[in-house]
Amino acid sequence: MINPKQLPIHEAHNLLKSKQISSVELTKAALARIQAVEPKVRALMTVTEEHALLAATHADKRIADGDCRPLTGIPAVMKDLLCTKGIRTTCSSKMLENFVPPYNATVIEKLYAEGMVLVGKANMDEFAMGSSTENSAFYPTYNPWDLGRVPGGSSGGAAAAVAAGESIYALGTDTGGSIRQPAGFCSITGLKPTYGRVSRYGAIAFASSLDQIGPMTQDVEDAAIVLNAISGHDKHDPTSVPCEVPDYTKVLGKSIKGMKLGIPREYFVDGMQPEAASVIRAAITKLEELGAHIDWDVSLPSTPCALAVYYIIAPSEASANLARFDGVRYGFSYNGAVSMWETLEKTRQFGFGPEVKRRIMLGTYALSAGYYDAYYLKAQKVRTVIRQEFDNAFDKYDALITPTSPTVPFKIGEKMDDLMTLYLSDVCTMPVNIAGIPAISIPAGFVDGLPVGLQIIAKSFAEETILRIAHAYEQSTGWQQRRAEL
Ligand code: GLN
Repeated sequence: MINPKQLPIHEAHNLLKSKQISSVELTKAALARIQAVEPKVRALMTVTEEHALLAATHADKRIADGDCRPLTGIPAVMKDLLCTKGIRTTCSSKMLENFVPPYNATVIEKLYAEGMVLVGKANMDEFAMGSSTENSAFYPTYNPWDLGRVPGGSSGGAAAAVAAGESIYALGTDTGGSIRQPAGFCSITGLKPTYGRVSRYGAIAFASSLDQIGPMTQDVEDAAIVLNAISGHDKHDPTSVPCEVPDYTKVLGKSIKGMKLGIPREYFVDGMQPEAASVIRAAITKLEELGAHIDWDVSLPSTPCALAVYYIIAPSEASANLARFDGVRYGFSYNGAVSMWETLEKTRQFGFGPEVKRRIMLGTYALSAGYYDAYYLKAQKVRTVIRQEFDNAFDKYDALITPTSPTVPFKIGEKMDDLMTLYLSDVCTMPVNIAGIPAISIPAGFVDGLPVGLQIIAKSFAEETILRIAHAYEQSTGWQQRRAEL
């Protein structure tokens, strides 16, 4: 019996290529696992069983013809804001509950071309706004490591699906931490690539200058394999960068001896759980043992401003992006209004959840005449300073090492009444989006059975540096091999 739970992409690929298993068998195993654990975990919005079995049959033909690419025949789930042609794409919002896109996102096209078997669409915070997946308009997702706790967010469904063995890998999106924070909370690997590395075409936009799509996988090698498949310039996304895509798997296994790593003190924030901080310090010591030079006291002084900057810029962009949901073109439309204005108003009143409305109001306020200079423009200026501080640090260091989050996964409901502390769970990840640079979260250990993530940050387009360090660490510790018992 195949157990998709302990089968990273590279191992599944070897089994498929050597014909020890077929894609149909692998896909059936994933679907069986979904059936078994989904009532507890609730990671998925939609299960695409029929579609998956058909895709698996095609993949098996392709493999029989000798064309077995690294992702051919391998089951995956996609965050439910990536448009999938003919398959409902909800953003976990009532607004898009019955939206069936007429086209595929570029990343979906690319993965189909590699032979992906799509088994489902993953639950998320509505329109990717949140850090716990409790903002889904339909139901929360539960952390496979402790079903009383959140899986993180907004890509919490994707992270939980991988951690629970429902899917071999997933794609998420990260605007302020939504790939890395849930990856950390579910003890998987999550990579946010450089802004522009991966086309955003067909990813339903939250904050366009911050959003980036990336892999959520069982280990670092898998992250490199998926990044290979989804990267590159796309004529449909003018912000995607026309520069060459290296083979990211080439750096795996290279020593990190002599690399210079900085530890920015501002990331060990007030209120950080001391046990989680100890786990991170132990991980850094491990990197030192592996031959890296560690500078334990680096300062990026504007880091504490990142949260404020994010909560001006992200809602501002969201308020513009979400203006398109007007009940006219697609998605939910309120029926029975007497005027065009009433349709518009009621559509938005009933279609959006409370967090989305909060963001739209915040953003509209920050952009309005009279407040624009004081808030939006100021935030953009601080954004430049944050970026410059990173640039200066990367003159000296190959990478920066930080916690992914200040705490382990919290209890369901624990922070819903205290939004400020909920927002704080992304303090360590947001500066990275503000600067547009890449970062990864990898498993670094546990506190009382709950996962802790380690974040590795590097300069723009230095994903290879990140993967090299992450792989060296992972191989020397083996945390990635632990699986949640469900
Ligand atoms: N938690 C942050 C927010 O609520 C980041 C979300 C994300 O990265 N999509 O906005």
